Amino acid sequence: MSTVTVRAAAKINLRLGVGPVRDDGYHPLMTVYQAIGVYDDVTVTASPAWEVAVDPVGAVDVSAVPLEETNIALRAGRLLAAHHGIDAAARVSIAKGIPVAGGMAGGSADAAATLVALDRLWDLGTPDDELLAIAAELGSDVPFALLGGTALGTSRGELVEAVADVGSWWWVAVPSAAGLSTATVYAEHDRLGLGDSQLLPQALLDALATGSVEALAATLANDLEQAALSLRPDLAAPRDAGLAAGALAMLLSGSGPTWLALCRDHEHAHRVREALADAGFADPVAAPGPVAGAHVVEYA
Ligand code: ATP
Repeated sequence: MSTVTVRAAAKINLRLGVGPVRDDGYHPLMTVYQAIGVYDDVTVTASPAWEVAVDPVGAVDVSAVPLEETNIALRAGRLLAAHHGIDAAARVSIAKGIPVAGGMAGGSADAAATLVALDRLWDLGTPDDELLAIAAELGSDVPFALLGGTALGTSRGELVEAVADVGSWWWVAVPSAAGLSTATVYAEHDRLGLGDSQLLPQALLDALATGSVEALAATLANDLEQAALSLRPDLAAPRDAGLAAGALAMLLSGSGPTWLALCRDHEHAHRVREALADAGFADPVAAPGPVAGAHVVEYA
């Protein structure tokens, strides 16, 4: 086998509770992640030197993705090799469908996909707990990108635990032309002195366990929304347009700027998507959730 392709999904946060900054600079989180059907595909090929290439899928703007060693996919590959003490390299090709700097953890998805792909390419058989620990070292959202589905995230988000979710949810992701830096949004959150919600979001967990979309709509919440809107007042427009288009709720994805419109079902999502496109919002995409974590789609 000389090539392995792994698919990894975008994540959204159904609840993003952000506590006061810790001594190590991270914010403690109480979050509920969900993987949704917007994907990056990562293909790894044996190579004498590390290389990375990124190609857009659809209208995704990949110009901000680094093509050198700071690319998180390469960091993931090097860390896996170091963990096993092997001297190997690979070419990593990313087909990017997840908006860049959109608050949907596309970089984390690439890191998780690269770990799984290289584990197979090099036939390492890395135990799950070791893969999760390597993932946590790469970034707070990377363990969830391995796990997928719907999960509670604690500590800085890197500790993940699957939660009961019987729903077949439908979302419309509304990307923004300009990205928003996660670090800047957290800094604004601190500057505004916002949030301290570290309580288990029981009403949200109940909504997921019963599959009630009305209950879910009533319990979605993101502590970073106010900070993102403070930095980018223009983000009120897609939120309001989503509600006008009939979304049951509008939720900012992570640190933004992508918005998620919660819809009743597949049909409703397509109507909301069309209404947003007609209103002039570029490239809204309907996506189901939850979907699987990083998984192999092709061996060659
Ligand atoms: P975060 O995961 O920090 O919440 P995000 O989901 O908003 O961020 P990402 O698309 O993951 O956004 O990328 C954030 C930044 O990370 C990009 O602007 C880019 O400079 C850098 N980056 C490094 N590697 C990658 C990668 N493989 N894909 C996308 N961005 C990458």
